[in-house]
Amino acid sequence: MKTGPGGWSWNGDAERPTFNPSVLIRSGHHADGKHSCWCTYNAEHPNDPAPFKCFACHSFVRDGHIQFLSDCTHALAGQTVPLPPWPVREET
Ligand SMILES: [Zn+2]
Repeated sequence: MKTGPGGWSWNGDAERPTFNPSVLIRSGHHADGKHSCWCTYNAEHPNDPAPFKCFACHSFVRDGHIQFLSDCTHALAGQTVPLPPWPVREET
C-alpha cells in the first residue's frame, strides 16, 4: 500500500488499482443547500441560463473498477464500470 499527499492510498497495482478513500465531488446545492446555486440562477435567468449544473459524484476505485454510489446525480449512479486504461509512464 502506497500513501500519497492528503492521505490517499493506492494498493500499488497499476493493472487493478484500488484507491482510498472514496472520491466525493459536489457542486451547487449538493455542496451547500443554504445558498443559491445554478438551479436558482437558471430559474431567475430563464433566457440566459448558466452552462453549469449542480451535480454530485461519489465513487470508489476498487480492483480496477469505478464504483459509482447511488448518491451520484449522473447516469452511472449505482453502477460499476471498468476503469478506462491510462498510459503508464515509463521511468527513465
Ligand atoms: Zn442546485
